[in-house]
Amino acid sequence: MNQDPKNQKPNNRPPQKGDNSDNNRSARTIAILVICALVATLLINTLYSTISNSRFSQISYSEFLTMLENGEIDSVEFSSNDRILILTKEQALQPASQQSIYYTGMIPNLDLAPLTERMTQLGVDYDTEIVEEASPIVTFIVSWILPVALMYGLFSLLMRSMTKRMGGGMGGLGGIGENKAKVYMEKSTGVTFADVAGQDEAKESLVEIIDFLHNPQKYAAIGAKLPKGALLVGSPGTGKTLLAKAVAGEANVPFFSISGSDFVEMFVGVGASRVRTLFQEANKVAPAIIFIDEIDAIGRTRDSKFGGNDEREQTLNQLLAEIDGFDSSKGVVILAATNRPEILDKALLRAGRFDRRIIVDRPNLAGRYQTLRVHTKNIKLAEDVDLHKIAQATAGAVGADLANLVNEAALRAVRMGRKAVNQQDLLTSFEVVIAGTEKKGTVLTDMEKRIVSYHEVGHALVAALQKHTQPVSKITIVPHTSGALGYTMQMPEEEKFLNSKEELLVELQTLLGGRAAEQTVFGIQTTGASNDIERATELARKMVTQYGMSEKFGLMALSSVSNPYLDGSTMMNCADSTASAADEEIQKLLSGCYETAKKLLQENRELLDEIALYLLQKETITGDELMTYVNASKQRLTDGEPASADASADASGETPAQQ
Ligand code: ADP
Ligand code: ZN
Repeated sequence: MNQDPKNQKPNNRPPQKGDNSDNNRSARTIAILVICALVATLLINTLYSTISNSRFSQISYSEFLTMLENGEIDSVEFSSNDRILILTKEQALQPASQQSIYYTGMIPNLDLAPLTERMTQLGVDYDTEIVEEASPIVTFIVSWILPVALMYGLFSLLMRSMTKRMGGGMGGLGGIGENKAKVYMEKSTGVTFADVAGQDEAKESLVEIIDFLHNPQKYAAIGAKLPKGALLVGSPGTGKTLLAKAVAGEANVPFFSISGSDFVEMFVGVGASRVRTLFQEANKVAPAIIFIDEIDAIGRTRDSKFGGNDEREQTLNQLLAEIDGFDSSKGVVILAATNRPEILDKALLRAGRFDRRIIVDRPNLAGRYQTLRVHTKNIKLAEDVDLHKIAQATAGAVGADLANLVNEAALRAVRMGRKAVNQQDLLTSFEVVIAGTEKKGTVLTDMEKRIVSYHEVGHALVAALQKHTQPVSKITIVPHTSGALGYTMQMPEEEKFLNSKEELLVELQTLLGGRAAEQTVFGIQTTGASNDIERATELARKMVTQYGMSEKFGLMALSSVSNPYLDGSTMMNCADSTASAADEEIQKLLSGCYETAKKLLQENRELLDEIALYLLQKETITGDELMTYVNASKQRLTDGEPASADASADASGETPAQQ
């Protein structure tokens, strides 16, 4: 259904800013082209002469006659270009494809009669039928004229598209970047809000736009101006495209889309002309939705620091001009998607442009459940399927992950020859899709395996031996494609939005438990802990600078979140000396937690060894198995005191928390 209006010839336009750099660029392009042509010529030449000459060698006419008299010749052919091709008796024994052939030039006006007579006497086959051999003219054409013609063709093509872009307006060809940056059009997307799970706030913001598209006159009559565009902000796969399509579907208007990343690396001018076409097309059929995916690729802040990017700048200018230029009362709404709004050029965000921002968050528990529901609508599910459990296990997953998970599960069920998808299919696909695929082939040395095993059990034990922790659900030392050599999964009992300081401290200790185990058992430090350390540091920093959890600074916030909708990157807003004191505080917090973890493991060294060896054997163990060991050990130690209940594990649900 995608229609590609790119064939529309862009209109002529006066030269624009940025065109002067075309000269530079075209000079470079021409140089590249000439080099390419030369290389091509050489290649064709070599190839041709290799093919045509490898089996032929020239001899003189008298040599030919001598060979003839000596009876060495098997057969002779007279070729079209006055050559005599000679096959010796020796060569005649070879397979035809390997025969090497002598040739000699025929003497002009030679009377062939005596020669053929002599050959008949000597019993040499000859063929007077003229053999079509590649003539020197053909050779010449193939090796010189053809490449030159090719080069000329390419050249004029390029020149034409350049002239057009420079304002010459010859129309026609759109240049080499032609097949990129396609504009897609769907008359009706068929997607509705029912297809978009969760995202209620985003939908709410979009309802008004839908109403506007249904009824632009109503708004125009009262003099209300709707924003021309809205920016959908959220991580990849959260459903921004889906939402935009749903808006078009709900409003029953055509959906035009284009992706910013297609514009990268394109010839100057093509992007701008594509943007122009996009708006023209949309205007023709208004009301319509224009969707610009990955707008950050074109809408990035224009900085001249690195020389800038003419193409992007020109495309952006064109986009701004189009947004300002179109009459919003006609009912064209532009939706753009990005996950990096902070790098967008301020001009794009100015009033009347993308001044409305719609956050498309990662789904929460309910959102994930609904997304799973939407995607399993047409899938046969077995009795044992519990989507709530899957939703619980997939904290952090986006809609696209969940859609993918369901599909993987369905494929698995088919592979297994089952008629319906069961819970195990979903759980296994969860590991494939979200936690990364199991790499059975990766070979670790025995020593490495031992270290990884202790490392993971280190995490798990530090968690399992304490209160305020999330139960461990799985420990594995089977490497995943994500690069982790092993991981420990902890499963939160419910989604939590508040964490106490105690819980965070235990989390820190758990994160550092891997390194603590390596150090305790082997006395070494490995790179395997780098991700743990990074995460621990990040958490400790937040505790000190944001959560007011350090003794030294108490309730003072030292940093602020610069953009809560994104990666949550923070800015320090305190004196430099305070910042370095904060660093010290973070370090103290980390080393304190590390010592606690180490002490815990040292005190439970026997248990650590036991479980690590068990894990080494089985490669993957469940939280239940872990707890069996832990509880047995507690039993031995405390002599009958009941084991704490808060460490019970649920092996069926897992979060992708990898440690
Ligand atoms: P984005 O544009 O944010 O990168 P997409 O809209 O392309 O994400 O989402 C990719 C796919 O993921 C969709 O086609 C859909 O199958 C699934 N998906 C994402 N979010 C949702 C959601 N909220 N509800 C249902 N499916 C979703
Ligand atoms: Zn780890």
